[in-house]
Amino acid sequence: MAHHVDYLVLGLGGMGSSALYHLSKRGLNVLGVEQFGVAHDRGSSHGETRIIRKAYFEHPNYIPLLQRAYELWHDLEQSSGKSLFNRCGLMVAGPPEGAVIRGVHLAEELYGVEVESVSPADALERFPGFRIPEGFEVTHEPEAGFLHVEKCVQTHLECAQAQGAAVCLNEQILDVKVSERLIEVTTDQRQITAASLIVTTGPWSSGCLSGLPLPLEVVRKVLLWNSVREPVYNLDAGRGSFFFDMPEGEFYGFPSLEGASVKLAEHAGGEIVGDPTHVDRSLHETDVPRVSRFVEEVMPALNPHPMRHAVCMYTRTPDGHFIVDRHPANQRVVYGAGFSGHGFKFASVMGEILADLATTGITSLPIEFLSARRFSE
Ligand SMILES: Cc1cc2nc3c(=O)[nH]c(=O)nc-3n(C[C@H](O)[C@H](O)[C@H](O)COP(=O)(O)OP(=O)(O)OC[C@H]3O[C@@H](n4cnc5c(N)ncnc54)[C@H](O)[C@@H]3O)c2cc1C
Repeated sequence: MAHHVDYLVLGLGGMGSSALYHLSKRGLNVLGVEQFGVAHDRGSSHGETRIIRKAYFEHPNYIPLLQRAYELWHDLEQSSGKSLFNRCGLMVAGPPEGAVIRGVHLAEELYGVEVESVSPADALERFPGFRIPEGFEVTHEPEAGFLHVEKCVQTHLECAQAQGAAVCLNEQILDVKVSERLIEVTTDQRQITAASLIVTTGPWSSGCLSGLPLPLEVVRKVLLWNSVREPVYNLDAGRGSFFFDMPEGEFYGFPSLEGASVKLAEHAGGEIVGDPTHVDRSLHETDVPRVSRFVEEVMPALNPHPMRHAVCMYTRTPDGHFIVDRHPANQRVVYGAGFSGHGFKFASVMGEILADLATTGITSLPIEFLSARRFSE
């Protein structure tokens, strides 16, 4: 006989751990299933840190969601007693007419996000160790910073369990059947039926939502840690995160947490991954040169060659925006997918939104722009 639960969450990474937390906070009977361990390094939510910011140049529609995300990260820190969000600030540099700098200013104008304009002379003093390219504009968002990514996932799960959620780790979902009357999940260990289902399986979403033709593409992304030559990037000396809109591409990174290295990466590009379970985690020769050139040009106090790396995956949609919606065959099945390499900062609010949709079918947060309908219209 199948095991029955009221609410079932598939995939307990960034989004699923938060959905489980929000459902359990409402006192509901909820089970979460995850194929690996807690805060593992085989999906999209690992590698120490994730940038969080409100001056959202991708689209201002995200800003109301970010305002709520900030509140919820704060609440989670308060209720768990853990420090998850470091408000070290974010420096953004790029051509004044570029989409990134224009988007930062649009967020400032439309939503009053606090953004400081930094003159080239001030930039030299405030951001030592950076050589700002000629003609670039520099902004600083003091309320931005980074999240400790694994700790966030772990904390959502710990708090969810303390609130009564059941968590099954190392259990793989093999099949998900959704019809008007039935929600049935087959794992490598049993069958589970549920009254309501949330699917947050990250890079594996196309497989777990095979009945839906979601336009998702999984790409392999590499994070690099480069050793420091001079101690000018240290978090404990007040340094923050950074994002550069270069003619060659977008590069970003974090202050040095331990003083020895800086983590950095390129946002665009990445090889297409056929099977996320077997993504190649070794460092390829082609993974390094573009970031090394950025380091040589912009961060002279850093060694251009990495001392270590990690491989992670982006799940991209054609327009780079997330997909958050209900299943057309059964409105009690909801999903969040295609976070396109910029979703983690939203994990706190995505959990709340998915819990709203699963329990009441609606949410007061403005997510219409993330509907899957945009791909069929
Ligand atoms: C290199 C890199 C840098 C990034 N930088 C930033 C950043 O600075 N700021 C930012 O906001 N975002 C950033 N992102 C994006 C962000 O990390 C992701 O959007 C987010 O983590 C996606 O979370 P998720 O829950 O969708 O996926 P995941 O966290 O991967 O969770 C999916 C979970 O589902 C489980 N699962 C899947 N299939 C099954 C199955 N069949 N059975 C059981 N369990 C299953 C997986 O094991 C996994 O735990 C970055 C991503 C990468 C890769």
